Amino acid sequence: MQLYNKLSAKEREALLEEAGEERLTLSFYKYAKIGNPHLFRNHLFVTWHEQDVLGRIYVAHEGINAQLSVPAKRFKEFKEFLDGINFLKDVRLNIAIEQDLKSFLKLKVKVRDKIVADGLNDETFDVTNKGVHVDAVAFNELIEDPDVVLVDMRNHYESEIGHFKNAITPDVDTFRDSLDIIEEDLRDHKEDKKLVMYCTGGIRCEKASAYYKHKGFKNVFQLEGGIIEYARQVENLGLENKFLGKNFVFDHRRGERITNDIISHCHQCGEPCDTHTNCANQACHLLFIQCEKCAVAMENCCSDDCIEIIHLPEEEQKRRRQGIPNSNKIFKKGRSEKLKFKK
Ligand SMILES: [Zn+2]
Ligand SMILES: [Zn+2]
Repeated sequence: MQLYNKLSAKEREALLEEAGEERLTLSFYKYAKIGNPHLFRNHLFVTWHEQDVLGRIYVAHEGINAQLSVPAKRFKEFKEFLDGINFLKDVRLNIAIEQDLKSFLKLKVKVRDKIVADGLNDETFDVTNKGVHVDAVAFNELIEDPDVVLVDMRNHYESEIGHFKNAITPDVDTFRDSLDIIEEDLRDHKEDKKLVMYCTGGIRCEKASAYYKHKGFKNVFQLEGGIIEYARQVENLGLENKFLGKNFVFDHRRGERITNDIISHCHQCGEPCDTHTNCANQACHLLFIQCEKCAVAMENCCSDDCIEIIHLPEEEQKRRRQGIPNSNKIFKKGRSEKLKFKK
């Protein structure tokens, strides 16, 4: 029985190109008590590997968070498998608007402490005591209410390229930081204001809403299915779209265009731009916004220092990388003093 990947990303890319079959990029999450995450993880891997499903999945005692690419022709089989797991029966699947054959090149199912890294002690509150879920129609109406405080529960690099009109977008690096900042800002309005939250797919708000209720907020709402589901409903139902720009996503597309507004700037020249990239220097890997002109001029790097490094022989680069975590693991994702136009 195969429990881990054997193909490299390159081999997988070639296979996908060759097959040329239609795939669906989708995501789902569910908070649920999972007794043995390792056993569950293996069950998922074996089945999805057989179904040619790719993606990044986290399993924890508190639930599952999955981002996947599923062959369209095996979707029914995939769905039946999910429905056969009692807590995943009829789970809402967020299907991406822009489809990309190569959104994921591997199947990685990982067991983690939490499905959302939140630094919270969940024993102290009930995660399932969540806020009121609202769909796109109700959300559009609700956010016009003068008593509403609309909060973007994502990090700075996500809300920078797209967010709802009039939303508060905390300048934070982590979910944990935003929880504290919002609570502090709204401490005198726990009863008179309506707290309305949104995030990418709903997973963060679901926990945040339970947390804020526990902290004494009386009126807590969350956008069901997050920006992904909102965009889908807006399109299907012909609703007014109150989002601006791009929805940051965590696969290699980096962002999904929701409207044509470009609300951010190239971090190097200041021109309007909302394309995220990672610095070409492997040891840096900084996530930042770079326009096409700067990408050429800067050789896809974030700084002159990094350009210098990518011109060193590979061996020398490797030697220098030893023991240095890249920005995936650095706390201050997307921030660098070298980026002139990053606020
Ligand atoms: Zn630029
Ligand atoms: Zn760099």
